[in-house]
Amino acid sequence: MSTTITTVNPATGTEIASYAAHDADQVEAAVAATHSAATSWAATPLDHRLSRLTTLAETLRERADEYAALITQEMGKPLTEAVGEIEKSAVTAEYYASEAERILADEPVEVDGARAWIGYEPLGVIYAVMPWNFPFWQVMRFAIPTLAAGNAVLLKHSPNVTGSALAIERLLVRAGFPAHLLTTLVVPEQDVPSTSEQLIADPRIAAVTLTGSNRAGAAVGAAAGRAVKKAVLELGGSDAFVVLADADLEAASTAAVAARFTNSGQSCVCAKRFLVAEPVAAEFTRLFVEKTRALVVGDPTDPATRIGPLAREDLRNQLHTQVEKSIGQGATLLVGGQPVEGPGTWYEPTVLSGTGPGVTAFDEETFGPVAAIATAADDDGLIALADASAYGLGLSIWSTDTDRAISIARRITSGAAFVNAVVASDPRLPFGGTKKSGHGRELATAGIREFTTIRTYWVA
Ligand code: NAP
Repeated sequence: MSTTITTVNPATGTEIASYAAHDADQVEAAVAATHSAATSWAATPLDHRLSRLTTLAETLRERADEYAALITQEMGKPLTEAVGEIEKSAVTAEYYASEAERILADEPVEVDGARAWIGYEPLGVIYAVMPWNFPFWQVMRFAIPTLAAGNAVLLKHSPNVTGSALAIERLLVRAGFPAHLLTTLVVPEQDVPSTSEQLIADPRIAAVTLTGSNRAGAAVGAAAGRAVKKAVLELGGSDAFVVLADADLEAASTAAVAARFTNSGQSCVCAKRFLVAEPVAAEFTRLFVEKTRALVVGDPTDPATRIGPLAREDLRNQLHTQVEKSIGQGATLLVGGQPVEGPGTWYEPTVLSGTGPGVTAFDEETFGPVAAIATAADDDGLIALADASAYGLGLSIWSTDTDRAISIARRITSGAAFVNAVVASDPRLPFGGTKKSGHGRELATAGIREFTTIRTYWVA
């Protein structure tokens, strides 16, 4: 009996499309075809591979409206942000089209009596498990450098963005990449753990990457460990946004709203915990709440909308449970705190104060429009709060004394530290986590080298 996956528009609750899930024979055919494509692609000259990235950037831009509409329809992000997601993917394709040759070039090393160098060579087929929150960007961020390095990709995307996953497969063919160099598997949720385990163990799969929750990352990481294969894990976050007593509060509060509520709060690097020096806590909180109240919640296709629906009802329910628990544990609700009535899965932009270790909204990742404020008397207290998290993805610190902010950043564990700026990814800089936010890097030099064999040559 065939299983189907039905996608639902979270803004209306109506069905978008149904897709037949792949059966075991189709999965096997996909693995075989992708493995075969990987072998030819690895032997394809680098300049040809990179020329496809230039066409990919052009194709993304030509079809930006179509892809953005699909993203918004499937997971509800404001359309303007969906257009931005496609543009960022195009910029990343251009970055690697111009930089990959330099990054992947052989590196001569001086040794006695021989010629030696380091080569960066493709691994083969990379199994990629991806989340719904940036349906194109998450895939592109990994796939562009990985394909440029000469690998192929077997993609397992979130079921609620199956339309996007299949559109990405077609996009690659449109851009002139060989068929099945990137193959999308359509796997129903209940089969994902067993299918993933089986694929990771398959000798035709060289390595795995997962962007998603800590729970999924632990499962995939364990399977990769059993198979002795490399795993890059880009997992959850509960980023600290630290406001020092000398911060420009007007700028910091505007940035705080952008940092927490982008993508309707559903980003790994959204700031989630706002750690504020006590002398400025009341004023920062007042400004933050005022600017949160001003956010336009509504139809994600309306250009004025800042907050669309959450991607699925179960995610909204989970978020509301976290808010209710936090209030029960002593947090104060300053604004929001309720699901929005009616069809669709909106949640009110919410700010909680009086949080800290022991309060759910502080201890757990909140994947939606919920901010947790905590205060401390001095720098040591703020640093302790920032580090009192199982996660360590991004960090944003606000101060008019940037040297002091940098020295505080050095004492906090995270994969990225931004001073007087909102944490964001950029193709020129590596992206990834520490602690339970995962390991390995995407983007920049580090990202393209993750899925290469760093090979030693010694010629006597
Ligand atoms: P998720 O539930 O972990 O799902 C992510 C992907 O993992 C989906 O394709 C999912 O498939 C799959 N998956 C789940 N359990 C699995 C298992 N046991 N074995 C193999 N695959 C499994 O996360 P999400 O709700 O889609 O995304 C939100 C999470 O991703 C947040 O924690 C967020 O912070 C994180 N994230 C991290 C980054 C980063 O770069 N660090 C970026 C974006 C998002 P099914 O849905 O079919 O189970």
